[in-house]
Amino acid sequence: MKLGTAQSAPGEVSTGYFTVTELPTGQPEQVPVVVVEGEESGPTVWVTGTIHGDEPTGMEVIHEFVDRIRDESLSGTVVCIPVMNPSGLRTNARTSYYDGDDPNRYFGLDGDGETPPRVQQLICDRLYEEIRANADAVISLHTSWVATYPYTIRPRVRYGDHRTKTDAVELRDRLVELVDAFGLPVVNQFSPDETVQRSLDHTLTGAAIADEIPAFTPELGGRFVVEQDVCEAAVAGLQNVLHTLEMVSEPAASATTFELPADTDLKRFVHPHTDTAGIVHYRVREGGWVDSGDVVADIVTPCGETKAQVAVDHSGYVLSRYEGVAVYENDPLLDMAVPDDESLLLHQSD
Ligand SMILES: [Zn+2]
Repeated sequence: MKLGTAQSAPGEVSTGYFTVTELPTGQPEQVPVVVVEGEESGPTVWVTGTIHGDEPTGMEVIHEFVDRIRDESLSGTVVCIPVMNPSGLRTNARTSYYDGDDPNRYFGLDGDGETPPRVQQLICDRLYEEIRANADAVISLHTSWVATYPYTIRPRVRYGDHRTKTDAVELRDRLVELVDAFGLPVVNQFSPDETVQRSLDHTLTGAAIADEIPAFTPELGGRFVVEQDVCEAAVAGLQNVLHTLEMVSEPAASATTFELPADTDLKRFVHPHTDTAGIVHYRVREGGWVDSGDVVADIVTPCGETKAQVAVDHSGYVLSRYEGVAVYENDPLLDMAVPDDESLLLHQSD
């Protein structure tokens, strides 16, 4: 397999760089590529990291995962892009600095021809063209806010004009199987309306799902730092995904210890918001369960006097506390995982 300057052969690990655009200063802008090609044929799995430049964990997971599988007997190919957003990595920022865009909102966009696509979209188009050409599965590694319990976002699958219900069921079942194999707690994507509002159909995972490629998004703890226990769980999770795809013979020796026990599916939900500005004192931690009506935070003055208490009106798990303690009116306080009242399989009009 050839990707940029990486050229693999059966039984070899090849590294190189794929040029995504030219910089005004005369150098090419390149993403690193690591291709692990098995002796035997089999599926092609893409693993991508650090599309948000302040999320180094994905890159480190890929480094450790390649070390783990490089001497394994492998059927198929693993294509890794440790850093999808080199400009964001340089500046330790979520976005790229070309236009300050979030790179993970530009996949699978068909240009309307009115305005030429900006450079970040061109970069995403060039990367996605390679991914779409041969990916049998895509794992887009991310992290969330600094105080985050690790989990995997499982996207919803639509059927309708573009896809039969039978095909959608098949894609959903494969997706469920791979996400379960990865092993982190599973949280379904936001409600369908909110997914569209937030342009999440144009994340790498969203675009891949639209193209029939099973894809999911692990959130590997907090941004800026690599949390070693989460990193290890992700490396084991990747091995277990390959095992489920019959690409390696053994599952990972150790299983993840991260759990959000629930008797129904969970979905992402940003809640509660504060209607009072001030300094937030949290009463809860990521990974904990809260019941509807529980006070989760106090809003105080800088002198420490209580101004308000903020309660949740949904039960669920706390996935993340928001960063910073100074809050304005209607700022969100928590990312939660609440019981999902919507289906993982949707008609496109839903
Ligand atoms: Zn991210």
